[in-house]
Parts: sequence; structure tokens; C-alpha cells
Amino acid sequence: MTAYSLGPLLYEGKAKRVYATDQPDLVAVEFKDEATAFNAEKRASLAGKGERNCRISALVFEWLEARGVSTHYLGVEGDRWMLVRPVKVVPIEVVVRNVAAGSLCRQLPIAPGTPLDPPLLDLYYKDDALGDPLLTEARLERLQLVSSGQLQAISELAMAVNRGLRELFGSVDLELVDFKIELGFAADGRLLLADEISPDTCRLWDRRISDQSDRIMDKDRFRQDLGGVVEAYGEVLKRVQGVCPQPRVYR
Ligand code: UDP
Repeated sequence: MTAYSLGPLLYEGKAKRVYATDQPDLVAVEFKDEATAFNAEKRASLAGKGERNCRISALVFEWLEARGVSTHYLGVEGDRWMLVRPVKVVPIEVVVRNVAAGSLCRQLPIAPGTPLDPPLLDLYYKDDALGDPLLTEARLERLQLVSSGQLQAISELAMAVNRGLRELFGSVDLELVDFKIELGFAADGRLLLADEISPDTCRLWDRRISDQSDRIMDKDRFRQDLGGVVEAYGEVLKRVQGVCPQPRVYR
């Protein structure tokens, strides 16, 4: 028996629907099978993607919580539902890059696959209509999205997430190339990791495979029409389950 009942739809994004519940401190997130890329110009429905991303995200949040990262995560219910704390989302997409790929290589003369040590932190203004533009410190200050103290906290949290994710994925032969996270402030003012962490939001390369296309285990399979998207996500889930078996069920 569940300890809450669903309220109205609060928000529908490209990959998830967010619902209020009858409890003010609880929000329910439904993971959808829809896949989008290139600012939603490319779309498809991939049966089983939502379920895999929900599971992977839940296990990742639990792994990170165990390593001192505060997240919005409270538990899962069923195959594709996650219960989370409500947060006021910071309109910044925080990207951490360990290896050069994607937009970095399109925008700068850096060859794909170049190791980035220390990791590169890129902040983007979260606005689809504007195409999520890259932020500079001066632009951040101009927009007054966060204080300099909060910016420091965001950078530290992003690097802690990177350390935790590299430990987790590295232990199952997946190279964490880069990832995007979103953050939010809880009612008590705490900065929490929010949204999801899944092959939709991370680039992961299989260290057991040398072929540069076959090793891709993330949304680049969809972006590049490589096929086998859900199968790759399933393999990521299987490996992560090998080190953290079951997500906690919300009660
Ligand atoms: N990413 C994301 N949502 C976005 C943009 C990027 O989850 O709206 C992720 C993406 O999957 C990759 C990382 O952030 O793991 C860096 O993406 P990049 O800036 O290279 O952009 P892309 O090549 O995906 O356009």
C-alpha cells in the first residue's frame, strides 16, 4: 500500500512527468519512454527506456547519497516512478567533462577522446528557446541566478558527483566521459542534486569494447542512429545492479 496519493500534473518535460501528491513535501516523477535529441528536433518512443532510466537513476542517487551527496531522491515505486523531495530548480545545466566529446569538440579545437584532467566544468543557462547557451561568470552575475557562495557550492557538488560516478561506473568497466546534472533548493534551503542521472544525461563508453561506435552505451546511440539504445541502457543497468542490487521502495 502506498503512503500517498497522486495529485495534479505539475510539469511535463521531454523525458519525465512530475506530479504533486497529497503531501506537500513529496513529488512523484514518472519516467517516459520518449527520447529526444537536438533540442527536441529528433524524437522517438523507445519501449523500456523509462523503466531503465528510473532504475539506473535510483541506484545512482543511492550510491551518491552513501558518499555524502545530498539528493532529492526518496525511493522508487513500481517500474518507472520515483518519489522525490520538491525543489526550486536552479535554471543552470551543470556539465562535467572528463573526456572531450559532443559540443566541446564542435565548439573548440579539441579532438574527441582527449582526456580532461582536471575535469572541465561548463555551465549552461537552462532555456530551450535560447538553445541552452553557455554561461560565463560575468553572464551569471548579470542574470543574478545564484550568489557567488551558491556558485561555489554548485561547483563543489558537481565535482563530488563526478568522483562518485567515476567510482561507480569505473568499477563496472564504464568510462564516464561527461554528464549533465540539475540542482535545486529544498524548502529548508539545502542545495540538492535533482532531475536524473542516466544514459540520457551521461556519456558512457564500454571499456570492454574498442570499436568507437560499439562502445557507446548512452544517448549518443540515439543521436547518431546507431540502434540498440534500450539494449545499451539495459546493459548499463545490469552492470550497476551488479554493485548496487535493489533501489529502496518508497513507503
Ligand atoms: N546533456 C544533457 N542534456 C542537455 C545537454 C547535454 O543531458 O540538454 C548531457 C549530454 O548527454 C552529455 C553532456 O551533457 O552527457 C554534455 O553534453 P554536450 O554539451 O557535449 O552536448 P551534446 O553533444 O549532447 O549536444
